[in-house]
Amino acid sequence: MKTFTCREIMNNEGGCDMEFTGDDMMKVAGACGQHVMATTDDAHKPMRDMMANNHSEEEKKKWFEWFAGEWDKKGDN
Ligand SMILES: [Zn+2]
Repeated sequence: MKTFTCREIMNNEGGCDMEFTGDDMMKVAGACGQHVMATTDDAHKPMRDMMANNHSEEEKKKWFEWFAGEWDKKGDN
């Protein structure tokens, strides 16, 4: 299991201290995504905009490649 905070998933460009734990990178990213989409504050705006705007497949791919790297760096709980 690995644990990421909302802030880590947002690459320290906002977010909060809420933690997301799991074995599956996609599930952890998805849980954080749902959390971010439920927010209305400025702290989560960069991620919310990225998810809400119809961003390109290319951008999505780039984000997941970045997150996969962070996922691999992170030790198991
Ligand atoms: Zn958050």
